[in-house]
Amino acid sequence: MKALKYLAGYPPHVLARVQALIEQGLLGKVLADRYDQTHAIRSDGQLYEYVQALKERHLRQSVPLGKVVYDSKLQVMKHALGTHTTISRVQGDRLRTSREIRIATVFRDAPAEFLKMIVVHELAHLKEAEHDKSFYRLCTHMAPDYHQLEFDLRLYLTHLDADRG
Ligand SMILES: [Zn+2]
Repeated sequence: MKALKYLAGYPPHVLARVQALIEQGLLGKVLADRYDQTHAIRSDGQLYEYVQALKERHLRQSVPLGKVVYDSKLQVMKHALGTHTTISRVQGDRLRTSREIRIATVFRDAPAEFLKMIVVHELAHLKEAEHDKSFYRLCTHMAPDYHQLEFDLRLYLTHLDADRG
């Protein structure tokens, strides 16, 4: 049995069910049925607009967004699904902090809900550095089904890997 690296830490009965779906060749279909919406956010410019709009709606008080880009070198899990960098620049005599958000390129072709989930995750990091209770409270504020989406995203990445191997 191949280790399910995107699902590390989940209970054995969950892993067994996922493994069975993979062996039956059904994981892709289960996901495609549940997430049939694509999105049209192709360029970095469109991604910036999308992230900015969500931020305006839910997190207006947080620090300004810096760069927002798709990054093909980003390894999704290594960076806990996305990445968030704080860049401080001296402007005049004031230190100004802006935030850079990089989204792994795999999300460009992923269902719309998964792009939203990862953007919500990164936006929550504008306010909360750790993956703690208040971080997830912010995530579920922006996307009420956040936990389900994150689990299903892990399934989706598992499926992409299984397809490749
Ligand atoms: Zn994170």
